[in-house]
Parts: sequence; C-alpha cells; structure tokens
Amino acid sequence: MLEEYLSTQNIATTILINSLKKNQLNHAYLIESNDNPNAIKIALAFAKAILCENHYVNKANCQNCVQCTQIDNNSFSELKIIEPDGLWIKKGQLENLQKEFSKTAVQSSKRVYIINQAERLNVEAANSMLKFLEEPEENIIAILITSNIYQMMETIMSRCQIIPLNKETLLGDNNFLDKVRFYFNVDTDDDILLEKTKQYLKFINAMQNKKEETIILTNKILGDYVKTKEECLFLFDFMIFFYKDCLNYLLNRKLEIFDKKEIEQLVQNNNIIELTKKIKIVLDLKKRIFSNANINLLLDKLVISLTR
Ligand SMILES: [Zn+2]
Repeated sequence: MLEEYLSTQNIATTILINSLKKNQLNHAYLIESNDNPNAIKIALAFAKAILCENHYVNKANCQNCVQCTQIDNNSFSELKIIEPDGLWIKKGQLENLQKEFSKTAVQSSKRVYIINQAERLNVEAANSMLKFLEEPEENIIAILITSNIYQMMETIMSRCQIIPLNKETLLGDNNFLDKVRFYFNVDTDDDILLEKTKQYLKFINAMQNKKEETIILTNKILGDYVKTKEECLFLFDFMIFFYKDCLNYLLNRKLEIFDKKEIEQLVQNNNIIELTKKIKIVLDLKKRIFSNANINLLLDKLVISLTR
C-alpha cells in the first residue's frame, strides 16, 4: 500500500494519495525514479489503489478484495506492465497493449498500464505512446517510470504529471550481492552474479595496472561475462558506481556498495579529478550502447580511454 512509503517518499506519496482521495486522477503520471529501486513497487501500489474499488472509499486500505488479490497474483487483466524487451521497449509491445485495452474491461471500471524504464521507448514506440496519450480514453491511466528524465520525449513529458522520488540508500547490514541487486536491478543466480562482479572488479584493477594489452584484457577477463548489450550496460553501471565509491572514500563519505579493501588500489593511484574523468568517460560510452554501437569496439574504446 502507498502508506508504506510515506516516511521515505513523503512528497510523492502524499500527491498520489490526495489525488485518489479527491478522485482527481490524471490520465498519465511520470515517476522520476532517481535510481530508486522501489519506484516499480510504488507504481504498483498506486495502480492497486486506483483499481481496487474499496481503497479510500469504504476504508483507507484494502488488501483482500478480488481486485487486490488478482493484482498480487499477476492475473488482473486490467493492469498491464511493460518493460524493455532487450534494450528497448518496442512498438509491437504498445500495439499489443492498445489492442488489449480496446476490448471492454471486465475486471474493473478503470484500467492502468505501467511502463517501466520509459526512457527506453524506441522512436516508433514513443510515437505510438504519444498518440495514446494525446487521445486519452476515459478510465485508462498511464504510469510511466524513468530513471533518466532527460532522455524522455518532451511531448510525452508534457502530457504527464511528474512525480519525483527521493534518492534512497539501503539501510542496515546488507551483503555485497544484496547491494548489487538493489542498485543494479539484476536478476541472476547468486553464483553467476558473484562470479561476474569478481571479473568486473578484476577488469577495473587490471586497467589500473596497465600490465596487459588492451585486447588481452577484454578477451581474457571479460570474454565470457560481457556478451550482450544488457551485460555491457551492467558492466558500465558497475564501473560508474565503483568510481563513485572511490570518490566517496576520498571525500570521507559513506561507501555505497564496495568495501574499502576493494577500492584501495584505485584510491591510492587516483585523485578526485582523475576519478571524475573516469566517470565521465564511462558515462559517455554508456550512451553509445543504446545507439547500436558494437560491444567489442565499445569495450576496446573503454580500455583505451581509461588506460591512456
Ligand atoms: Zn482491494
């Protein structure tokens, strides 16, 4: 339920709860996630409150009516969640949604669709989305989630109410893999994930040592671990967080993911300016993953730029 998030996301949840209570819902919301992994859970809690007919009517919260139960079981036909298929959200996915939603609603009077990682709508999908938003149908509500509002089409943004979330960090004692899952949203077995992150760390340190040739570095260390664009994206995000933690260390701030012993070598050999440069290099190359750049060329470029 939305109330769960009142303490950590006060502004966002208050806006959403008020619009429900006053029955003044917009046709489209854009949740600016600020890398907050709870964004999808907040979107779902909001969707549930929209679709369940008891919420804020008969009682403040309901978790056990037919609608609520079906939503929890992922079997509610008037709620659809769209996520990138590979790197992008494609036009076909939106066409399927529009087709589904053109039939008469059977399970509730309202319908909701959630588009997660909406910055990854490809051009055709974004245009198709725009048409959907331009002619809003009564009782259909869109919830878009993005971690990068600057990549969103302005015409889409202008049709949505923007709900910004606060940045959140993990509380309490969590092991390394918990943190990796929290920050990177990866869905892989523990063993594989651990092996992958070990190799990524080895790769980062090997670049610092510059003992190996560029090609050997990428082939030997990354060979089996960065084969797809998704893995490439994970590596780049992992590196950005790594360098950010090095910066945190140098600035006497709390480390977000890594241990002191993991970043020691880097912080001994890099100052704040060098680390900032590294982050910028990775960020710039990361953008190219989305513009269909060849992964191997991109990795070579990464090594060349970082070892120069
Ligand atoms: Zn309910």
